[in-house]
Amino acid sequence: MASVKLVKVNKIYDGGVHAVHDFTIDIKDKEFIVFVGPSGCGKSTTLRMIAGLEEISNGDLYIDDKLINNVAPKDRDIAMVFQSYALYPQMTVYKNMSYALRLRKVDKEEIDKRVREAAKILKLTPYLERRPRALSGGQRQRVALGRAIVRKPKVFLMDEPLSNLDAKLRVAMRSEIVRIHEEVGATTIYVTHDQVEAMTMASRIVVMKDGFIQQIGAPNEIYRNPANMFVAGFIGTPAMNFLHGELIDENTFKIDDSDFEIKLTKAQQELLKDYVGHRLVYGIRPENLIFEKQEHFEEYKDYTFSYKSNIIELLGDIINVHGSIGKSKIILKTSSMYDIKQNTEVKVAINPEYAVFFNETTTKAITPDYCEFEEVEVTESLDEDNITIVETKKKGLISTIKGKINEKKNKKDDK
Ligand code: ADP
Repeated sequence: MASVKLVKVNKIYDGGVHAVHDFTIDIKDKEFIVFVGPSGCGKSTTLRMIAGLEEISNGDLYIDDKLINNVAPKDRDIAMVFQSYALYPQMTVYKNMSYALRLRKVDKEEIDKRVREAAKILKLTPYLERRPRALSGGQRQRVALGRAIVRKPKVFLMDEPLSNLDAKLRVAMRSEIVRIHEEVGATTIYVTHDQVEAMTMASRIVVMKDGFIQQIGAPNEIYRNPANMFVAGFIGTPAMNFLHGELIDENTFKIDDSDFEIKLTKAQQELLKDYVGHRLVYGIRPENLIFEKQEHFEEYKDYTFSYKSNIIELLGDIINVHGSIGKSKIILKTSSMYDIKQNTEVKVAINPEYAVFFNETTTKAITPDYCEFEEVEVTESLDEDNITIVETKKKGLISTIKGKINEKKNKKDDK
């Protein structure tokens, strides 16, 4: 049983780099959590703070409700598996796996039991007497995992453990690690920059950017309901299409620099009723566009537009058709059987059920409980430069607030 809780954990390195900001999460026993984000977003730093390899500048870290900020790494009951797993070349697999237990003077019989159990889970039993150089990359990686498993730690931490393996082996090891996690059942925190690994392995994903958590959620939740444009663009390949434009009336979204107007569904009209006259970003994934020759295209004729294909990416069964409308880039992902050619007019329909709308200024997704506008705090001086923009969960119209400012300004001028 091991839960891991981080409360407003921060890391400021000597020299002032604020690598992690207010990282807060409650990880339950047996969860498989993946931290994902671009290089430098603070994933490894967070993991290393949990391991105790990096000091926490601010905030609290609990394992099983016990504060462990100041507990030494070796006493945290955590095992860490790195990208570069250094196995001892002169030792057999058995000895590599049992090494840490021998150092801890664990009873010989107990060591043997644990190594054989782990070898069984990892399918390494036939290789126990081999040396690492006589193993494949995947088998070596499993020995590295085995060394961690025999210690029966409360928590496993894995930092990009698959990135040294070739693409095929990586795919195979992904499902191996998930299977091993299910058998061993220990709470696992896994770091990767690869969104496919995150989607396929995690019970919950933590998406990070510039040291800040962007969203925490189950893979499907993050895919279907991204919290902001960064998450929407980072998770999924190709990335979500973002059509910039304006809601010209309660039922019509006009794409910038084009003549295309897309109707809103009833639910979307309700969601966006306060946005009429405002700029918006219409998000739709490439796989949720319907090519005109596809079944159901007619059903969605209120949601169509066309563009000129400029790059065609053929991926066997799938074809990605790139182009642009006005300044917005667009990609259709469909079956390659349609054989769409470069420099042709491509007509597509949006499946509006999958559309996500974003506030263009804050980049946050608009949802029934988060339909915010920027609000402007009216300061005493009323100097334009002195206006603080605050984000609130309240609804409010920018124009109304600007009106208020002008009202106050006029009063001030009158004085
Ligand atoms: P990730 O694992 O997401 O690639 P890291 O956690 O390694 O990111 O790094 C987060 C940020 O902290 C980066 O800007 C990185 O340059 C910085 N950083 C990492 N380690 C150190 C260090 N020892 N000293 C100063 N800055 C560091």
